[in-house]
Amino acid sequence: MSVWDEVVGQEHVIDVLRGAVAEPRAMTHSWLFTGPPGSGRSVAARAFAAALQCEAGGCGVCRACTTTLGGSHADVTVVATDKVTIGIDEVRDLVGRAARRPSSGRWQIIIVEDADRMLERTTNVLLKSIEEPPAHTVWILCAPSTQDVLPTIRSRCRSVVLRVPPVEAVAGLIERRDGAEPQVALEAARAAQSHIGIARRLARDPEARARRTQILEIARDIRGVGDAVVAAGRLVAVAQAEARAATQERDAAEKAELLRALGADAGQTLPPRLRSQVSELERDQKRRATRYQRDVLDRAMLDLLSLYRDVLLLQLGSDVEPVNTAMSGTVRALAADSEPLQTLRRMDAVGQARERLDANVAPLLAVEAMTVALRPQG
Ligand SMILES: [Zn+2]
Repeated sequence: MSVWDEVVGQEHVIDVLRGAVAEPRAMTHSWLFTGPPGSGRSVAARAFAAALQCEAGGCGVCRACTTTLGGSHADVTVVATDKVTIGIDEVRDLVGRAARRPSSGRWQIIIVEDADRMLERTTNVLLKSIEEPPAHTVWILCAPSTQDVLPTIRSRCRSVVLRVPPVEAVAGLIERRDGAEPQVALEAARAAQSHIGIARRLARDPEARARRTQILEIARDIRGVGDAVVAAGRLVAVAQAEARAATQERDAAEKAELLRALGADAGQTLPPRLRSQVSELERDQKRRATRYQRDVLDRAMLDLLSLYRDVLLLQLGSDVEPVNTAMSGTVRALAADSEPLQTLRRMDAVGQARERLDANVAPLLAVEAMTVALRPQG
């Protein structure tokens, strides 16, 4: 067993990080971990932190390893944000922490999971600390790609690039860690296109699988403009339901926690001076739900793209492995019912909808334009 067990399909990265752990005197103090969403950036960052704190270089079982991986090591700080940006005060705190000696560990380690969510003036607060950190401090910044962080950050960090892990590696991890059936794990890993978090959710949660199937069937059911409008409404509703399911419980827990901290009871009317703090939390939660809903919709678009990709592969007689093996009936029906050129046009329409959503067009409008373009021609 070792801390690297859950870092799958990244052998090249593990080699580099192991080498760094083995040579503490030559330590690079600022790292930038990049890799596409779901490739396991933050898992790799935590594993590296554990290996650095561990007396044995990452045994996976000692106290330093287990507390680091479990998120309770006193000298490992992890910043993961659900907000659109990481606040400047938060980063000032981190810089202060980076200057302190570790209390019991070998290093003072600070992991910033979404380093791409810092505004430029916030980044400036960080620059000096990541350029010349104290001898005992290690910064690990994570982002989807090096282009997502400012050049001033990029140039001060050693870069580690994670790749999309192979489907089999992701399936193996889900089998091992979550005890999923091999067939379920493999189908989930394929459907999630190797996004580890999504593959896990698909493997563990039959409702998540059902929602994904529902989204893909929408593509099959669109015949005319009327269907297209209905389908768009359904798609947005599924995304809303998923966002609600994901955020509701946490929102309630956060609010209860805040009320407790303020010394107020849940059912009681709040004095005005406390009310503003509660409404600030509620505003943050609303923003988070909106972002989550957009992420879910974007994921639905990627699922649709994967479906049309499978259709195109079939139409072109390619023997490349399809993504949606569990939906071969739908793929066959769509392939028989259209020409490759139309499949390409449909993929374009999905791509355009993603761009519009990214540009903050109202979800229903963007999705409706797409579903109308997805209906059969002629
Ligand atoms: Zn250990």
